[in-house]
Amino acid sequence: MAQLSDLPIRDDLRGLSPYGAPQKAVRIALNVNENSHPIPEAVARDIVESLAAAILTVNRYPDREFTELRQSLADYLNLALPAEKALDIANIWAANGSNEVLQQILQAFGGPGRSVLAFPPTYSMHHILASGTGTAWIAGERDADYELSPETVVRWIEQTNPDIVFLCSPNNPTGTAVSLETIIAAYDATDGIVVVDEAYAEFAPDDVESAVTLLDGRERLLVSRTMSKAFAFAGARVGYLAADAAVNDALRLVRLPYHLSALTQAAAVAALRHTPEMLAMVDDIRAQRDRLMVELPKLGYPVLPSAANFVLAGGFADPNATFEALLERDILVRDNGIPNHLRITAGTKAETTALLDALASL
Ligand SMILES: *Cc1c(COP(=O)(O)O)cnc(C)c1O
Repeated sequence: MAQLSDLPIRDDLRGLSPYGAPQKAVRIALNVNENSHPIPEAVARDIVESLAAAILTVNRYPDREFTELRQSLADYLNLALPAEKALDIANIWAANGSNEVLQQILQAFGGPGRSVLAFPPTYSMHHILASGTGTAWIAGERDADYELSPETVVRWIEQTNPDIVFLCSPNNPTGTAVSLETIIAAYDATDGIVVVDEAYAEFAPDDVESAVTLLDGRERLLVSRTMSKAFAFAGARVGYLAADAAVNDALRLVRLPYHLSALTQAAAVAALRHTPEMLAMVDDIRAQRDRLMVELPKLGYPVLPSAANFVLAGGFADPNATFEALLERDILVRDNGIPNHLRITAGTKAETTALLDALASL
């Protein structure tokens, strides 16, 4: 077999590493922020019935505009919005995971000669998607405790004049939320696109408002969401976007035709019919997240306030050694390369107990 470096690959891809969260068969996987709770059996049955119906017409291409799915997603987002801010199907886009949505945004608004400003530590895929689309990556700096004040964001935008700003709220891997003031300040400071990645929005405390509430009158503001986390649908690959209808027209220029399979569309629409059951575990997960925030510091591992379904814990003299020691106990957590820190997903109550017991025994 040849080496990758033997191939005539793009110069700007040479030496890069692919996304690499370890996928290991363990008893307790708390490393990629999935919802640990399987979906309820009755919901699973209904999804399978929808898939069975959809497979009968799979000889035809799927609805290229995934109309029913977009309506279902609009209805879902509108549950949390006042009537005057209600979103319309024209405001909704979807793809195979929010990663694909973000890639399409970079294809349409970034690319060679353009730049994206982001604030590490943040979701590693943002950088990888920038590389893949040839978009220059500008790494801004955060305030103390990974906070992001309006002044800091505006200063970075004024100094670097990016085409796109990525804000992740709640941020992965820190768990910290970005205030609406900061998002508004970023929007007002740029003529470019502002993307808020809200993959963990459903886990946020009740007083943390979604950037979806800011969309009205802000045609360059894009809010991405996913069914992978709160909705317990990571394996189905469904992410979506709320934005001005004109943004969807831009994304239509770069998406592959029929990018959402008929089976994906059928499964997602069926799951959204069961929103209350699908989200029933969110409160339990938030409770386990809050428990981690209380218990980890008692074990000597201070945590940042988290609005997501995971915590970033510090105080690990050798994070890799702790990672390996937990793995020996069949528990997988995440080493994001932040010195002295590990990221831990809030799992079921039993999983969280096992994690805390294991850490206490080290
Ligand atoms: C997990 C995660 C996603 C989800 O990606 P999907 O492609 O929708 O599964 C998106 N953004 C962030 C910040 C994440 O942590």
